[in-house]
Amino acid sequence: MPNIGLLGGTFDPIHFGHLRMAQELAEALNLDEVRFIPAANPPHKATPSISSAHRAAMVQLAITDNPIFKLDNRELLRTGASYTIDTLINLRNELGENTSLVLFMGSDAFTNFHTWHEWEKIIQLCHIALVQRSVGTMKAPLAKVLETFLHNHYTENIDDLRETNAGYVTMQSITPLDISSTAIRTNLQNKNSARYLMPDGVLDYIKSNMLYNNSAK
Ligand code: ATP
Repeated sequence: MPNIGLLGGTFDPIHFGHLRMAQELAEALNLDEVRFIPAANPPHKATPSISSAHRAAMVQLAITDNPIFKLDNRELLRTGASYTIDTLINLRNELGENTSLVLFMGSDAFTNFHTWHEWEKIIQLCHIALVQRSVGTMKAPLAKVLETFLHNHYTENIDDLRETNAGYVTMQSITPLDISSTAIRTNLQNKNSARYLMPDGVLDYIKSNMLYNNSAK
């Protein structure tokens, strides 16, 4: 069946860590499409430092030359917290049962997964592809409920993710890129360059819109 990867995030701003993860998972899992879904009000993070319109515009610029990468604005059109479960229900209603959905998650995000709103229902609506964020981030012991969750849903057979529309968790190794939006914002605020951490088009957008303290180089 058709399969779509989903990468939710704050994208404040988008960087090569996000893009490379999407590219490598698309290839490893043989995905037809990857949707980048910016969060309006991420429930587990501080309110983003710039508007959702700017964050979405930067995602669009970053993915523009990749025919299978798409910007999905649905969380920006809702009010209230951007719960993943609501996004998945919404996508399911729109796409029907005959599409496999694969939610991408960095290892840092997975360690908190059991605190997400209605987290146990998420796996009924999609698969989850876990990637190692950077050396050390998965070293903290996983909560017992997450260990059980992995035990119940884990597969090493990626065909499982194409043959069913939801229910499996896989772990994929990708090129580790220790890039974060936080480090990029700090660079820019300290008047250091963020070149080679993100596409030049995104950096130009930051400069011309005077984002992150107007100090981009
Ligand atoms: P911040 O530094 O502001 O917390 P971030 O760089 O973690 O931001 P998000 O937009 O919050 O970026 O991340 C969205 C998703 O992308 C999360 O699942 C996160 O784990 C994953 N991710 C972000 N950066 C990387 C990276 N360098 N390598 C792999 N996954 C990443």
